[in-house]
Amino acid sequence: MIPIAKPYLTAEEAQAAYDTILTGWITQGPRVAEFEEKFASYTGAKYAVAVSNCTTALHLAMIVAGIKEDDEVICPSMSYVATANSIKYVGAKPVFAEINPDNYNLDVKDAEKKITAKTKAILLVHQIGMPADIDAFKKLADKHNLKLIEDAACAAGSSYKGRKIGSHSELVCFSLHPRKVISTGDGGFITTNREDYYQRMKLLRQHGMSVNDRVRHESSKIIFEDHIEVGYNYRMTDIQAAVGIKQLEKLDWIVSERRKIADKYNAAFKDIENIQLPIEEKGYFSNYQSYSIYLKDECPISRNELMQKMLDAGISTRRGIMTSHRETAYKTECAGLSLPVSEKSADRSIILPLYIPMKDEDINKVIEVFRSILVGTPVA
Ligand SMILES: *Cc1c(COP(=O)(O)O)cnc(C)c1O
Repeated sequence: MIPIAKPYLTAEEAQAAYDTILTGWITQGPRVAEFEEKFASYTGAKYAVAVSNCTTALHLAMIVAGIKEDDEVICPSMSYVATANSIKYVGAKPVFAEINPDNYNLDVKDAEKKITAKTKAILLVHQIGMPADIDAFKKLADKHNLKLIEDAACAAGSSYKGRKIGSHSELVCFSLHPRKVISTGDGGFITTNREDYYQRMKLLRQHGMSVNDRVRHESSKIIFEDHIEVGYNYRMTDIQAAVGIKQLEKLDWIVSERRKIADKYNAAFKDIENIQLPIEEKGYFSNYQSYSIYLKDECPISRNELMQKMLDAGISTRRGIMTSHRETAYKTECAGLSLPVSEKSADRSIILPLYIPMKDEDINKVIEVFRSILVGTPVA
């Protein structure tokens, strides 16, 4: 069976976790501090705050951006549901806008149409690792005095206009879930260039505590902490951070290997007329967190049939990105909302296996099976 994805973890990561456990310091401590410095430096942002996952990263971003009850935040419906959920956590309303069918990212014109007097922010997603047009959204946000927050859950290692995702706007949130390109089991980051945001997020992720465990531990004088505001436990552990440091060292290599596989798929499928392959325009650099193909109307087979046939041949695939407004949790409040582009993109796209190391034999099998189902002929 060829799986859809697999984290790339080696004996190095296992050793790092082992060594950290034996230091006796297992939750947020020196390894987290080191990982934060390295992640900030990798992305080019001034600061990075390590947290338990990207969903908690998004929650903290919403809080420090000042998003509150009854505010509206524009985001794509076509995204993992955590995007919309993070807006709900602060009592605000996700307002779903359409996506651009070529790259599954938020459509700037539709986003502008959805702005009301209550809109406070735009939550921009770099879907499956393909950067969204950050500059266009910055311009829109500035014009309407809105905050711009990036959901870069899938986009560690991707770049936009020559710079790594993570330093373009005030709040950028990342995921280190095993389904993303590097992983710590679970884990997340917020990168920012603003010192005030940085300080407040560090407080909020650790119960609002004025002094962190490490500072208290290392102090030669007794210290009593104060809890300055109601915070959360959104800590990353040092065991995770030790693994993450090793993963980060490999990130650029992982991305280049993933891109080689994406290139092979692109070359092998480019003659198939009734499908749309991923589009990476100039200035956009994807980490290919997922490789998604859109089946055009003329495509002779339905997406679900195609998935079943691939599975029958021993290849797992996934449906394309979901839409949030059709999930049970959002159905009632979104009754009557029509997002035809998002719905069609979600219903007619398929994600193919892509992980490293992926054997040539497995890449070729995916190519052959996919081609034989769609056009009845093996590689041209
Ligand atoms: C995976 C994902 C998340 C959630 O990340 P976690 O680390 O699992 O909380 C949020 N947004 C998007 C777009 C994602 O793909």
